[in-house]
Amino acid sequence: MRKTALVTGGSRGIGRAIATALSHEYNVVINYCGSEEKANEVLAECEKNGSDGMIFKADVSDSSAVRSMTESVLEKYGSIDVAVNNSGITKDNLILRMSEEDFDRVMDINLKGCFNVSKAVFKQMLKQKSGSIINMASVVGEIGNIGQANYAASKAGVIALTKTIAREGAHKNVRCNAIAPGFIQTEMTDVLSDSVKESVLANIPMKKLGKPEDIANLVLFLSGDNSRYITGQVINVDGGMVM
Ligand code: NAP
Repeated sequence: MRKTALVTGGSRGIGRAIATALSHEYNVVINYCGSEEKANEVLAECEKNGSDGMIFKADVSDSSAVRSMTESVLEKYGSIDVAVNNSGITKDNLILRMSEEDFDRVMDINLKGCFNVSKAVFKQMLKQKSGSIINMASVVGEIGNIGQANYAASKAGVIALTKTIAREGAHKNVRCNAIAPGFIQTEMTDVLSDSVKESVLANIPMKKLGKPEDIANLVLFLSGDNSRYITGQVINVDGGMVM
């Protein structure tokens, strides 16, 4: 029988590639916030791969919306085997120019959203005595980045949260790992200027940008039994940027 995977921010970019990759093996629930049309496109793509999934609109920073989402998933499928906390935003600015509002919004979606979803699926996973939570961090959460105080802090928080969830879940076979992507080509990075892209590229030993599928392949590995003895880890997918 197919297991169930929930992917937050599955409507676009990396989340879309993750949902599609998982759909060959799992029934995939595609969470989105604003992009309903795109979420439906992803659902159709997943169905072609045999997934009996659904889309679900929820702002991950809203804990009650997240609880309703996971309750609906459990009602339909009876289990949640994989949860991928992929939703994320940027609101870049230098510290002196960064508003408190922009700091809070990034923390609310990137870090609190990850906590909300993990908490909502954790009880069920402990009960099942199995589950894999995969959190999207960033290399920036490891090394910092000019203009990204909010984003870098949120992703460093995601790494600490990942290790804590891993410690709390390990005795019940609930695993939690983080992926730290480097520079992946999506709408999030398309908005950066050519000069920023060039300077990023200069710092990537492999001299190329990553693709959403590079992340999705690792998610697939971390989701299933092939990674059954791996928990609490942060795995970089960054062309050698951080080593
Ligand atoms: P993206 O193309 O901008 O997509 C962001 C996704 O997050 C969308 O599906 C969006 O859904 C969802 N989202 C935004 N706000 C949300 C909210 N409040 N509630 C639920 N979902 C929400 O970004 P991406 O590049 O694919 O990034 C995906 C993840 O990887 C993020 O966590 C990002 O920080 C991380 N990452 C990306 C890179 C990179 O180079 N691209 C590098 C390191 C880490 P809607 O459109 O439906 O609102």
